[in-house]
This record gives sequence, structure tokens and C-alpha cells, in this order.
Amino acid sequence: MKLKPFSHWSLRLQMALVFSALAVAATAALSYVWISMLTPRIEQAAADGLQAVAHNAARTLSEGLFERSREMELLANAEPMWVNGLEDDGVRQILALSQSATPSSRWIGVADLRGVVRSATGNLLVGQSVKERPWYAKGLKGVYVGDVHAAKLLAALLPPAQDGAPERFVDFAAPIKVDGVVVGVLAAHGTWDWTRRVIESLMPPRARELGLSVFIFDRAGNVIYAPDGQTDRFAAEGQKLPVLDPARAISVGNGIHVAVVPWKDGQDYLTSVVRLPARTPASDLGWHVVASMPVSVAFIDERAATQRAIWVGLAVAVLATGLAWLAAARLSAHLSAITAAAGEVRAGRPGAQIPLLHSSADVHQLSTALHGMTERLMHVQEETEQRVRDRTRELEKATQELANQARTDPMTGLLNRRGFEPPWQHGLALARRSGRPLSVVMVDIDHFKRVNDTFGHETGDVVIKHLAQLMTSRLRGTDWVARLGGEEFVAMLPDTDVDQAERIARELVQAMAAQELPAVGRVTISAGVAGLAPDVDDGAMLLRRADAALYQAKHGGRNQACAWSAGA
Ligand code: GH3
Ligand code: MG
Ligand code: MG
Repeated sequence: MKLKPFSHWSLRLQMALVFSALAVAATAALSYVWISMLTPRIEQAAADGLQAVAHNAARTLSEGLFERSREMELLANAEPMWVNGLEDDGVRQILALSQSATPSSRWIGVADLRGVVRSATGNLLVGQSVKERPWYAKGLKGVYVGDVHAAKLLAALLPPAQDGAPERFVDFAAPIKVDGVVVGVLAAHGTWDWTRRVIESLMPPRARELGLSVFIFDRAGNVIYAPDGQTDRFAAEGQKLPVLDPARAISVGNGIHVAVVPWKDGQDYLTSVVRLPARTPASDLGWHVVASMPVSVAFIDERAATQRAIWVGLAVAVLATGLAWLAAARLSAHLSAITAAAGEVRAGRPGAQIPLLHSSADVHQLSTALHGMTERLMHVQEETEQRVRDRTRELEKATQELANQARTDPMTGLLNRRGFEPPWQHGLALARRSGRPLSVVMVDIDHFKRVNDTFGHETGDVVIKHLAQLMTSRLRGTDWVARLGGEEFVAMLPDTDVDQAERIARELVQAMAAQELPAVGRVTISAGVAGLAPDVDDGAMLLRRADAALYQAKHGGRNQACAWSAGA
């Protein structure tokens, strides 16, 4: 499917797309800024929490080790206890009391300078040589805190541990001095279970849920404590003290203590490493407390924040698109309305006009401009049409006038020969059809040449006009009078037979003769009358008869009217 170019898409779609793209871009940018600001804080908070756990565990363990060694030292230096010999009952009682005060001490005993145990809690190992034990040699020289180790001599003598794992111990030893002279070594085997209790007591309530684990590694970097009795498993996997990569470190306080580290199990852990602080050189075991938490859990807030940002962004984009869609709908609806109206205007529908719309300032301007333009165009069109109508009317009038001029005689205002023809033919046809009579009277001024010769041509015109006036006033409204040329006139008298016409002609002749014209005096006329008869072929024939009658009147002495007769 081939997509149409963007400019061919509807305004609505274009706006919706542009707005959603903008919203997505803005949200992405804001989310990026927000997350990049938030991430270090979230990571810092997680690192701080982890660091606190490791730090507290290290301090508490260090404190415990120091206190136990201090206890041994004090006891070993209590001279009154030892003056009666290392096997004295008092010694046994004090050892028993000491064990009951610190139940984690599974064994407390005293060895003499030969390395033979002389007194011990539960009389365990009494009489046996401990010369080969590291604590014995070190304990002769000074206060000693020994690394954790599996019980060698005691394992068979002590009841098994609760979880069935082999017992491990931390050794504490101090030289017994009487009068400044070393007489033996006081030693205690503290159960390693004490460590578990210390660490568990320090764990925050949601530690298990968060996957928070605390480990202890010895000076050589070997794991000596792992949670849930997993120490041997971690040791077997070869898990060494994690090394913090500065590139993946999160700084907490001075130096690097927390970083993301890949562990032997292949997972990334946020890992905090804290060296056990040493209270005395003797109790400095070089241990490290390590707290770890899976990265997926440690930075869960980071992921939640990112997801929330994406969801909010999507919601904003959808909202923006919807709003743009609605706004564009309003705009495009108005543009469509303008287009439709323009179409109607073009089609010339009466009353069509561009509507005035107000959805936006631009649409308002556009509609106002188009409305004004259309109004102006329609006004111009109206004016043009009016002008054309006026011109047409003027032309018609002029044409009418020309036609009238062609049919009338300008001097008398009567019809001329051409103008007489239509009513003449009409009158004839009407008379023929109705069978009613029709007569025609032909009139000519007598000796008119003389009038012209004597009084001038202008005076002759006055006489002609006078006769025209006389004929019009004397004849009826239904009669037709025309000037055929010169001083010759004709009158068509409908509904008039020859006798009546002859009488009318005679009256006309008499009326003319009776009048004294100024300057000219009396001027007479002659008239010839003919009536429509069955033997008359056409109008020309009837006029010829009237002409013949006029000729007869002239011949008969003028100043008279004659009717046509067949014999004459
Ligand atoms: P008759 O009695 O036989 O009719 O004699 P007449 O002199 O009237 O002769 P005719 O009718 O033949 O003469 C017509 C004269 O009328 C000729 C011409 O000079 C004159 N005439 C024609 N038209 C006009 C016009 O418009 N004005 C004037 N003043 N004279 C005209
Ligand atoms: Mg004449
Ligand atoms: Mg004449």
C-alpha cells in the first residue's frame, strides 16, 4: 500500500500526529531527565542501606571479638585465681561461671607450660596435649584471637550442632601470669554460631524478601561465613572476597565500599565490602564483612520509576492526541463549512454566502475575508446585471423608437406608408372574416404646388400639419390615418360602409374648405372613397379604387368627395 504524502492528509490527522509525536518526544525527554536525575539517588540510597548493614555487622563482630579477647586477658591476669595452681577447684568454678556467662563459649580451659590441659569446662580434654594447636603457641606470647576453624579435638566430644553442620570455632587465648611469670595459657573456643546470631540480629526486617545476604571472608579472601549454612557451598564454588570495580562503584563516604559485582552464581549484586575494624593488633583478623543484594531488587525503585514515567508519558501522548483530534475536528469542520458554502456560491445558488465562523482567530479572519469578498463580488455582479438590464431597456426603447420612426411621419406624427401597412392588413383581414364593412378614404390637397410657390415651402408644411390635425380630430378612435407622402393622406374606417364613408369624407372636405388659414386663406382638399367588396382582391386593389375615386374628385372640380363606382 502506497501512503499518500503528508500534505494530502486531513488537517485533523496531521494535527493529531504532530501533537502525539510532540507529546511522545517531550515525555521521552522529560523521562530521560527525570530518570537520569533519579537513578543516582536511588542507587545511592540502596548503596547507603547496604553499606550500613555491612558496617554495623563489621563493627558489632569486631566489638564482640575484642570483648571476648579482653575477657580472656582479664581472667588470665587475675593472679589470685592461679596462685593455688592450674588444677585448683576455684579455677574450675571460675571457668564454669565464665562459660555460663557467655554460652557461645563451648569450651574454656587452661594448659600448662608443657601444653597439657589441666582444667577445662566439662573436664573435656583434661590431660591431653594441645601443644600443636596454634592458639597454644600464640597464647603463650600474648593475647590471641584465632581464625575460624573446624573443631579438631573437640568435635567428637561435643554434642552436634543444631543444623548438623560441622562445628566451627574462633579461638581466644591469653598467657596466665603469676608474679609477672607466664605459667600457662587460658583459652576459649567460641562457637561460630555466635556470628550467625550477631548477623541475624543486625538484619533489617525485610532482609530475606530483599535478598540481602551478609558474608564474612577471612584474610586470605576465603568465605568463612555465609547465610543459611551455605558457607561450604560458597567455598566449593570458589567464591572469593569480591573485588570492587571502580567503574561500577557507587561512592559512599570515603573510598569505594559499594559497587555492582558479578558473583560466582553469574548474577550481578550490589555489593558492599567493609574491613573488620581492629580494636587491638591481636584481634585484627583481617576479615571482611560483605553485604550483597541482587541488582534487580536493589534498583527496583529505579525500574518502577522508569515504568511509571513511560506510562505517564503514554497517557499524556494519548491525551494530547485526543485533544488535538478534537481541536482539529472543530477547525476542519469550519473549513469544510466554508468550502461547502464556497461551492454553493460557485454553483450560483440564490442566497448562498460564506458563513462567519469563530472557532479561532484565523478561521474568523478567513471566513470574514471570504464573506466580504463574496459579498463584494455579488454586489458587482448585481450592479453589472442591473446595468445590462438598463442598457437592454434603453436599447429596446431606442429600437422601439427607431421602429416608430420608421413607421411614423415626423412632421405630422401620423403613420407613414410603411406604418399604415400592418393595421391596414389587419383591418382588412378582420373585416373579411367578420363580414363587416370597411372603407378607405384617400385625401389630397388641391393645387398645393401653388401654395408652395406663393407662400413658400414652410407655409406649405403648416397647411399639411393643419390637414393632419383636422383628419385626426374628425375621425373616430378606431379609424387609422396615415400620411402616404407629400400632401396625400389615407384613412381606414372599420365598420363603415361606402355611403357612411362618403358622408364622412364630404364632411372632411367641407370642414377644410370652411377654415380660413392664417396668411394662406382657404385651402381645399379632394377625397376618394372605396369600400371593401367581394370583388376586391386585396388591399392594394382597394387603395387603387380609392385613388381612382380621388382622381374622379379632382377631375370633377376638386373640393369634393367621390365614391368609387364600377362604371366611373
Ligand atoms: P392637384 O390639385 O392636381 O393635386 O394639384 P397639385 O398642385 O396639388 O399637384 P400635386 O398634388 O401633384 O402636387 C404635389 C406638390 O406638393 C408637389 C410638391 O412640391 C408639393 N409637396 C410635396 N411634399 C411636400 C411637403 O412635404 N411640403 C411642401 N410644402 N410641399 C410638398
Ligand atoms: Mg398630390
Ligand atoms: Mg395635390
